[in-house]
Amino acid sequence: MSRLTFAGAAGTVTGSRFLLEHEGVRVLIDCGLFQGLKNLRNRNWEPFFVDPASIDAVVLTHAHIDHSGYLPRLCELGFGGPIYCTPGTLDLLQILLTDAGHLQEEEARHANKYRYSKHEPAVPLYTRAQAERSLAQLTSVPYQQSIDIADGVSASFTRAGHILGSACVRVQTRTESIVFTGDVGRPSDPIMRAPEPLPAADFLVTESTYGDRRHPEETVSDELEKLVVDTVKRGGTLVIPAFAVGRSQHMLHLLAELKVAGRIPALPAFLDSPMAITATEIFCNHPEEHRLSAQQCRSFGDWIEYARTTDDSKAIDRRMDSMIVISASGMATGGRVLHHLKRFLPDPANSVLLVGYQAAGTRGRSLVDGADELKIHGAYVRVRARVVQVQGLSAHADYAELLDWFGASAIAPRRAFVVHGEPSAADALRRRLSERFGWAVEVPNDRSVWDLTALREVT
Ligand SMILES: [Zn+2]
Repeated sequence: MSRLTFAGAAGTVTGSRFLLEHEGVRVLIDCGLFQGLKNLRNRNWEPFFVDPASIDAVVLTHAHIDHSGYLPRLCELGFGGPIYCTPGTLDLLQILLTDAGHLQEEEARHANKYRYSKHEPAVPLYTRAQAERSLAQLTSVPYQQSIDIADGVSASFTRAGHILGSACVRVQTRTESIVFTGDVGRPSDPIMRAPEPLPAADFLVTESTYGDRRHPEETVSDELEKLVVDTVKRGGTLVIPAFAVGRSQHMLHLLAELKVAGRIPALPAFLDSPMAITATEIFCNHPEEHRLSAQQCRSFGDWIEYARTTDDSKAIDRRMDSMIVISASGMATGGRVLHHLKRFLPDPANSVLLVGYQAAGTRGRSLVDGADELKIHGAYVRVRARVVQVQGLSAHADYAELLDWFGASAIAPRRAFVVHGEPSAADALRRRLSERFGWAVEVPNDRSVWDLTALREVT
C-alpha cells in the first residue's frame, strides 16, 4: 500500500512537502519553507509532522526556498538520509541554503535589536552553519537517470524548464508511479529550455500557480524600455527586486539586449546581490539547460556592474544620478533590496519594477496592491515612487501552457492532485483538467492523507 500526505503547498503556494510512504519506506518530495503571511511562516516552527529520522530520503524538484528551505531544519531535527537533486540544483543550493541561514540569523538579530519580536530573545529557524552542514547530504543525479531510493522504490528527473536544475520527479513503487511536477516553466521562455513532456504515471501532483490566469501577450522588453526611459526622464532610479536565481539572469539578458539595440541609454546599472552574481556564474556553467550562448553569458558583466561587497551596495545608495539597480529578494521579503527600497521609495522620480508572482503577505504584494507605506526593518517607509508590475517574465507556465504540455505528454493519471496554488487557481485548474482530459482531479486539503492503492482519502 502507498500513502501520500500533503504537508504543505496545499491551499497555498509555499511550503512544498509531500510524503510518499510505501511498505515502510518514507520519501519526502520537496522540503520547502513556508513564506508570506505570518500564520504561514509560523508553521516553520511547528514540530515536523513525522519524525524526521524516520524519513529514508528527500527528493527535490528544484532549489527555490519554498521547495528546499526547510532542509537544514529537517537535518537538525534528525534526518540523516540522502537528499537527491539534479546537478544544477545542487550548485544553486550551495548559495541558496547558506543565504537562507544567513537571512534567518539577520532577521533574529534585527528583531532583537529593535525588539519587534514577541519572542525574547528571537532565535533563527536555523543558522548559516546548520545550513552548510545539511549540504553534505545532497546527492546529485542527472536527468533521466534512475535513483534507487530503497528496495522497491526508485525515482527519476525530467527537465521542468522553470529555473536552472528544475525537474519533475517520477517515483516508481512496486504498485504505482507518481509524477510530481514541482514548478513548471514556460514553453517559450527567452532563456530556459522548454519543459520536457511528462512520462506516463498512475498519479500526478501538479502545481497551479497560474491555474486561473493566462500570461499577457505583452512584450516585456517594450515595457522595460518604456520604464527605463521614463524614469531617466524624471531623473530617477529604477529598482528591480528580483529573485537571485532565474529572474536576475532574465533581467540582465533583457537589459543587455535593449542597450545593444540602443533602445535604452547607457546609464549606470548594478546587480547588487552576491547570490545573484554567483547564480549568474552557475547559470553560465550549465549551458545544456538554457538557450544563451557563451558569448551572451560573458557579455552580462560588460555593462552591468556587479556589487559584491556591502560597501559596494551602500555606495549605490549614495549616488545621485539615474541608474538601474537589480537586487534580491524578488518579493522584497529580505536581502539588500530592502535598503534600496528604503532609499528610493519615498521619491516620486524613482520607479520600482516588480517581476512575476508576488505572494500574499510579502512587501512585493503590498506594493502591487498600492500600499502607501511599507514596513521595513521595523519602521514605516512612504511609497511615492512609481510601482509597475510585469507578468510576462513569469517562470511559471499559465494554465493554457500547462494543459498543452499535459496534452503532449504520455501521462493519463488515475487521479490528479492540484497543489501549489491559491485556492481559486487550484480549483480553476482542477476544472480545466477534468473538462479537457476527463481525469479524476482533486484539490487535496492541507495535511490530508491519501491511500493511493485504494484511491481514497484516509484522513
Ligand atoms: Zn520555483
